[in-house]
Amino acid sequence: MNDKWITRWPVVGTSGKKYTVAQDREGNFGCDCQSWMFQPRERWLNGKRRDCQHILNKKLELLQAGTITSFSLPSLDDKKSVRIVRLED
Ligand SMILES: [Zn+2]
Repeated sequence: MNDKWITRWPVVGTSGKKYTVAQDREGNFGCDCQSWMFQPRERWLNGKRRDCQHILNKKLELLQAGTITSFSLPSLDDKKSVRIVRLED
């Protein structure tokens, strides 16, 4: 990951694989897992990659900790975008 990320959190997937979830200055989240990094552009939402499970999990954690007050899930109209908020690969 390059320097645009100002905050990084190590996360562990269910298989024990380690990933890094990061946040940039604008508050955008990123992850270094394959499904986020190589997400096909046609699956993106509003010009941005959709959140992977690791990002969603981190957002949920930040929400529970009170660090953030809300986060948006991808549109529920698009069945493919619905991801369960828990750590898995
Ligand atoms: Zn990820």
